[in-house]
Amino acid sequence: MAQLSDDCFAFGGPMMSVGEAVSIIAARVTAVQDIETVSLTAADGRILAKEISAPLPLPPFTNSAVDGYAVRGGDLAQLEEQAFPVAGRVQAGAAAQGPVEPGHAVRIFTGAPMPQGADTVFMQEDVRLDQGRVVLPAGLKPGANVRMAGEDIPAGHSALAAGQRLRPQDVALAAAFGLTHVEVRRRIRVAVFSTGDELVSPGASRGAAQLFDSNRFMLMAMLVRLGCEVSDLGILRDDRVSLASALKSVAGTLDLILTTGGVSTGEEDHVKAAVESVGTLVLWRMAIKPGRPVAMGIIGGTPFIGLPGNPVASFVTFVHVVRPTVLALAGATQQHLIPMPVRAAFAYKKKIARREYVRVNLRKGENGVLEAVKFPREGAGLLSSLVDTDGLVELGEQITLVEPGQTVGFLGYASLI
Ligand code: AMP
Ligand code: MG
Repeated sequence: MAQLSDDCFAFGGPMMSVGEAVSIIAARVTAVQDIETVSLTAADGRILAKEISAPLPLPPFTNSAVDGYAVRGGDLAQLEEQAFPVAGRVQAGAAAQGPVEPGHAVRIFTGAPMPQGADTVFMQEDVRLDQGRVVLPAGLKPGANVRMAGEDIPAGHSALAAGQRLRPQDVALAAAFGLTHVEVRRRIRVAVFSTGDELVSPGASRGAAQLFDSNRFMLMAMLVRLGCEVSDLGILRDDRVSLASALKSVAGTLDLILTTGGVSTGEEDHVKAAVESVGTLVLWRMAIKPGRPVAMGIIGGTPFIGLPGNPVASFVTFVHVVRPTVLALAGATQQHLIPMPVRAAFAYKKKIARREYVRVNLRKGENGVLEAVKFPREGAGLLSSLVDTDGLVELGEQITLVEPGQTVGFLGYASLI
């Protein structure tokens, strides 16, 4: 990050594409190295520090997939029905039984170890009992309804990669291996400031020309979802000197400084000058709408990102600049956002060479195909446009026109954070 300015364009220079921004971030940010050991109950959302290889096969032993009767597949003849005497019973958790006699069946239950010699299980629904014998219908393939040891994951297999952001199913896998704890990177610490003379915190008294600060709470919530430890540093006034001293006072104590507002080039946008006075800064004129410039830099060794003030611009640039930065700092594998194809139920014109995000709701259209319905208004200040929609349609740089019925890519809010 220290050399960020070398290969970035200054404000007013060429636009930077979202892709370029993300690759610069990924290349420049160094992940936190500290490792913590956490219990499985605290592991969800954490970033795995070291690869986990399977210490045992899953399942650990060959077992029945159903409730029924275990037999030797080789005993099955090409007959419409065969009746086998039932010799023995094995339930889940019980020790495997001795060899099944040829031409015999063993009563077995789901999850019970296969008796020695048996390799096939008839489902109880498919058989009937007749005087201590089980009547087996024809047509079952030898090996049916059995789960082989290691068929899910063989022992030694690389099961969870370092950098994985653990999900509930990943935690389940660690538990299935018998692990009680996992090694994860420490959470990254992020300071969040809002900037603007017009802002007051919820709970404070609001002047006639003031508004309650909403971005800070949105950004903090998104950071928490990304697994960050967040420091709420309140609202800074539109004043270069106080901005500079506030930024300087936190630099070096945490992993990322995030601000919102004051990064345009208006007379009252002082974040740029403040950062330049205590660190180094570049303004990225990102080719993204809603957007506006995003400031990036470094203050006393700590990466800094200044997002625009308009709530929707703040949200969208968070997703494309802050999210990849946080993942890189946290040591997580970058999670590429994969838009889902849906049918546009709207027309839209856009500029070439700029990526645009359209706020939409999904509905089921003709033939059950998902359709994206555009939110009727476009202002970057409309919080309702984020609250009342399901996600964003991503329109790539090359697109200039969307016509109703065209396939477009949808990103649900849940997938973005
Ligand atoms: P700025 O980027 O500072 O020029 O602000 C652009 C617009 O976003 C202005 O209308 C601000 O009042 C509004 N704004 C800036 N910061 C916030 C915030 N933290 N919460 C809500 N609105 C904001
Ligand atoms: Mg402002």
